[in-house]
Amino acid sequence: MRTHLTLPKYSVGTGDRFAHQAKAQLTACIQAANAGVEVIPVWNKSNREHTIIGSGPASTRAAADAAVAALGWTKPYFCDADHIGLTTVDRFLPACDFYTIDVADEIGKLAEKSAVDAFVKRHPELLGEIVVEGIREPLTISREFIEQAANKFLVAVQKAAAIYRKIEAAKGAGNFITEVSMDETDSPQTPAELLIILVAAADEKIPLQTVAPKFSGRFNKGVDYVGDVAQFEKEFALDVATIAYAVKHYGLPQNLKLSIHSGSDKFSIYPAIHRTMWKFNAGVHLKTAGTTWLEELIGLAEAGGDGLALAKEVYAQAFDHREELCAPYATVIDIDPTKLPSPQQVTQWSSEQYTSALRHRPKSPAYNSSFRQLLHVGFKVAAKMGNRYLDLLETNEEVVAHNVTENLYVRHIAPVFLGKGSFA
Ligand SMILES: [Zn+2]
Repeated sequence: MRTHLTLPKYSVGTGDRFAHQAKAQLTACIQAANAGVEVIPVWNKSNREHTIIGSGPASTRAAADAAVAALGWTKPYFCDADHIGLTTVDRFLPACDFYTIDVADEIGKLAEKSAVDAFVKRHPELLGEIVVEGIREPLTISREFIEQAANKFLVAVQKAAAIYRKIEAAKGAGNFITEVSMDETDSPQTPAELLIILVAAADEKIPLQTVAPKFSGRFNKGVDYVGDVAQFEKEFALDVATIAYAVKHYGLPQNLKLSIHSGSDKFSIYPAIHRTMWKFNAGVHLKTAGTTWLEELIGLAEAGGDGLALAKEVYAQAFDHREELCAPYATVIDIDPTKLPSPQQVTQWSSEQYTSALRHRPKSPAYNSSFRQLLHVGFKVAAKMGNRYLDLLETNEEVVAHNVTENLYVRHIAPVFLGKGSFA
């Protein structure tokens, strides 16, 4: 399959809700390069985030281009139309060169019997035991299993193909990176299901470079992983090995790799991800969520004065509107209302109290994950403040940027790609 534009082995997806931190984020990739590992930045922003903020994909592209020019970055970089579908992709076509095709909603829609039969007939080689390199236990696949998996996933893959072709018609084959995501669904996909999905994608000639399955465990926004880490490591290794198998046997792009829609800050599984990458010599795309916005708040709070006052005001408003703000993210947050400080309490806080409650140091007694999660979904409050918020970001650029860079490099890039430090 033709892929002119290829995503290098290691890449990190970063969100920049207000399009003010691209330089600070890119600095983290430069620090990685200085430490000896090439990690390519991908700026991701979904339609939902653009809609809430009132921004468009062109602003993400402009911020990325400007950062790259300002810092003299000569390696690749991309702008990701995150979680798009057939109806939302259009506005992303001019500005983006990376498309995360989200077909989670199509999972489980029954495929046509003829399509399932044809799939089973086309792939007798899937029947029985499949030995994937690096994994002791073979995948065992029965005819019933193939039928079930085809019924569960064929419609989703067909939809992904339709969206892919729409993008291809607009941009030309090979001029963009294709990811298919299935993470925003209820149940995780098993490695054997992942294989069926990849085989179906190969049948549809989707030049997949990354695939985002749902892993087991909870991936809440902006906080650590909740689940069985040893089990995750086992499944993750099986997924990585399955991808290598599918690349070898089904002609998918050589650089196909897992995309981990982490929701950010999955500190306790980062060492497992790192170990597995090394063991299998595999690439990874680590997609983080919009925690850069929290670093902006931390920076403003640290700056004191007007910055701290605004950070407190954001919390007060987020607290008052907590139900409305949490609703769109209900499945990916876990806020304990009894742990939320009252806005009156927070008004009394020093810079240190605010930043230590918000900054993600799981072992710190002052850290408050409910406070953090509420602010994480509270970016709409800052968006409504408009220039008042943006002007303060600009006035306090240095302290904000320092927090953004340090967070991305020390807490995410170093543990995942360099195997250094763990914050769990
Ligand atoms: Zn996702």
